[in-house]
Amino acid sequence: MRLTILGTGSARPVGDSAQSGMLVEAEGTVVLFDVGSGIASQVEAHLGAVKLSALFVGHFHADHWIDIGPLRYRFPWGEPAPKQLPVYLPPGGRDKLEHLAAAIAERPGFFEPAFAITEYESDQVFKVGSLTVTPHAVGHYVPAYSMDIVGPRGERVVYAGDMGPSDMVVDLARGAEVLILEATLEMGKTDDARRGHLDTPEAIDHVRRSGVAQGILVHYWSERRDIIRELCATSGVPVAPGVPGMVLEVEPGAVRVDAPPMPAWVPPQSPVLAPAVSTDGLD
Ligand SMILES: [Zn+2]
Ligand SMILES: [Zn+2]
Repeated sequence: MRLTILGTGSARPVGDSAQSGMLVEAEGTVVLFDVGSGIASQVEAHLGAVKLSALFVGHFHADHWIDIGPLRYRFPWGEPAPKQLPVYLPPGGRDKLEHLAAAIAERPGFFEPAFAITEYESDQVFKVGSLTVTPHAVGHYVPAYSMDIVGPRGERVVYAGDMGPSDMVVDLARGAEVLILEATLEMGKTDDARRGHLDTPEAIDHVRRSGVAQGILVHYWSERRDIIRELCATSGVPVAPGVPGMVLEVEPGAVRVDAPPMPAWVPPQSPVLAPAVSTDGLD
């Protein structure tokens, strides 16, 4: 099974990465998990949307699904696509999509000819070609789901998505080869009481407790990449920050990581106006 990290950004745009999205491929099946801003272009750069076997969206924050709009334009107009893209959405997804269609397009039913929609429930098991995918509910500011992804030889990736601390995800990832976690916060104590995100030490601790062969941290501000890399390197845990274009070859019991070099972070022209300790806007 091959996993490609398409983006490592969170809700605030950064110049060197798309937002949330990753591809998982095995034996000709290619599934996209999340489609945040910039991911539709990354899908075109890697294989083209019409070659996707399915899309799973983990929750309805914009940085995880807003590029479903651009993605639709890769499919024919006016008539059903020769092969509709199976799209798996959280409960209420059809309604959300219809509202998005009303907001961005001149017609209702904008998405129907292109996509075959399924609203999933927590713990429901889906077979997509050679992959088996099971969403599990996690704690976030809105209903959100981690993805348990099993390849044809039993190799396994858990993509936790946005979430606060979760013993469930630690238990779920036991026996998996790879755990993909968010590392959104600078300090977990700045999160609100519901806990909807992790800081880097918390994410590293989840990887350590799960015992996976490789942890990858995503969903972070790019200027924090070097700090996150340092925290990972000194942790004694097999964990590293994801970078756009990173490829993981996942075999039963083994993971090979191939990460492209990243240029040094260049600060944006204008400073960020949000107070540094606020969790507002950290979807
Ligand atoms: Zn979110
Ligand atoms: Zn997010």
